[in-house]
Amino acid sequence: MDRTPLDDDVAAAGLVPYPAAFAARYRAAGLWSGQTLPAELVAAAETHAEQTALITPEGSWTYRRLLDAARQFAAGLPEKTSLRPGDAVMFQMGNVAETVVAYLGCLLAGMRPVCTLPQHGVREISVLARHVGARGLILQADFGRGHLPDNARSLLADGIVEDVVVARGAAFASAVGYDEVFARGAGAAPQALPYHRCGPQQVAVFQLSGGTTGLPKVAPRLHVEYAYNSRAWAGKLDWNPGTVVLYPLPIMHNAGVSLALQPALLSGATLVLAPSADSGTLLELIEATRPQVMPLVPPAVAIRLLEDPRSKDADLSCLKDFIIGGQKLAPEIAERLRDELGISVRQKFGMAEGMFLLTPAEASEQVRHHTVGEPLSPADEIRILIPGAEDEVPDGDVGELCVRGPYTIRGYYRAPQHNLHAFTADGFYRTGDLARRHVIDGLTCYSIEGRIKDVINRGVEKIHADEVEDLMMRHPAVSNAALVAMPDPVLGERGCAYVVLEPGSQPLTVRTLGAFLLDQGLAKYKLPERVELTADLPLTNVGKVSKKALREDIESKLLRDVPPPRS
Ligand code: AMP
Repeated sequence: MDRTPLDDDVAAAGLVPYPAAFAARYRAAGLWSGQTLPAELVAAAETHAEQTALITPEGSWTYRRLLDAARQFAAGLPEKTSLRPGDAVMFQMGNVAETVVAYLGCLLAGMRPVCTLPQHGVREISVLARHVGARGLILQADFGRGHLPDNARSLLADGIVEDVVVARGAAFASAVGYDEVFARGAGAAPQALPYHRCGPQQVAVFQLSGGTTGLPKVAPRLHVEYAYNSRAWAGKLDWNPGTVVLYPLPIMHNAGVSLALQPALLSGATLVLAPSADSGTLLELIEATRPQVMPLVPPAVAIRLLEDPRSKDADLSCLKDFIIGGQKLAPEIAERLRDELGISVRQKFGMAEGMFLLTPAEASEQVRHHTVGEPLSPADEIRILIPGAEDEVPDGDVGELCVRGPYTIRGYYRAPQHNLHAFTADGFYRTGDLARRHVIDGLTCYSIEGRIKDVINRGVEKIHADEVEDLMMRHPAVSNAALVAMPDPVLGERGCAYVVLEPGSQPLTVRTLGAFLLDQGLAKYKLPERVELTADLPLTNVGKVSKKALREDIESKLLRDVPPPRS
């Protein structure tokens, strides 16, 4: 039989393994099951066969129907394409049922979904596909303005991918239709599906972390730890076949997969996939499906709900776990949710690399409104370190949040040099977030106090400044450029570009710079939303661009721009 990537050993596949002693400890504690992620998902689906697994605008799916569809897709995929077990498959799919079927189908086919987003441009997909060695792409033809098939044609023409599967639209020459894959897999024997051959410590799924210039940061999520991550989340929130989970963000993002899709499917719960996070859609879905849980509500979505007059008349009493996360929450928003909508807020912190923190439901408001709570797993370990050093800050001081545990990666995929700085010598991941440890009512919990990484958190979508800066520097009129966060009352932050022009160049605007960056293949959500032209960029005393000075500059300009209150 041909050797496939499934047979690769850990080192050859560019993985940093969990040290044997840790793996043994996690297994002995009953956290790691020893099974693969698809094996756990299949077992749960068989147990809950007649329950409703999934609700989308098109209809609802029982576990039996969903599992049958995923098996059929898994069996058809290697028949209709050249994709084989172990292959990585890029996704550009929105919140539709086909995404869930294709994701599960890839896992059952022993393939590795790469959780790229439909918002990603051709350049981003190319860089990531090369990095993980992906040969396949599954796309949603009717997503957005219907541009994904055109993007896929150019990826095929450039030899970036070899196989494209088109869902929800006509397949073009050299691509294959989702329905054709599905039809081809009809009648195949489930026992023959290759996921049985995956090893529990092999990569199940690739999640994304950093930008896509330079070396991309890809989080390789392993079968055993990713399954545990999802099971632990469902367990912490007591999900069961009566639980209805409403999820409004992109389902293929790590948060979607590990806070909603997988935990729901592992616990027999019902997942309602919202096609968008606008307040009207959410209010309708809350009325129609009566979810008890929204496992990730960005502060911006909470603010829009508060501002929508229809919220006051809606019956929101079903919502028991309204969990805000992804971004710093202003305590006033939590108070307004309590006072105006009767919603009791919980908070969570999480990331593609693993570690989740969550405030206990019964904790005081001091904990729920002002901290992100405690780690999800009893085996999670947290250290608050002096940035760049291995020493802990004095207890109660702010330092870098560094984490290790049974579902936190030990290294980025194929990034040995980067891993030297991103992890401590003893395997703690340096999150780049600043945090403080508190003890409140006897509970040890953490608050997020800022960040040292150069990232803009735009309504929980992350924009890596260096990625946008590298592309801005390609513009012939740009002599120097920096991207910084500017505060925004709803999204939290937006990107502001400071640009030094080449002498004699035409000034750049948000529109002209944006058009250039889109042309470079940058996703739209990463475009700068304000451009400040400047003679030079301020420097720190070690000669680096002072982002702090730029942030202060834009903050003061925004304050100046605010019209004075009318008397
Ligand atoms: P991602 O990997 O895209 O999920 O992003 C993870 C990052 O989002 C973290 O490292 C933080 O910078 C940020 N983040 C997530 N949750 C929170 C939160 N509750 N408060 C503040 N920042 C958060």
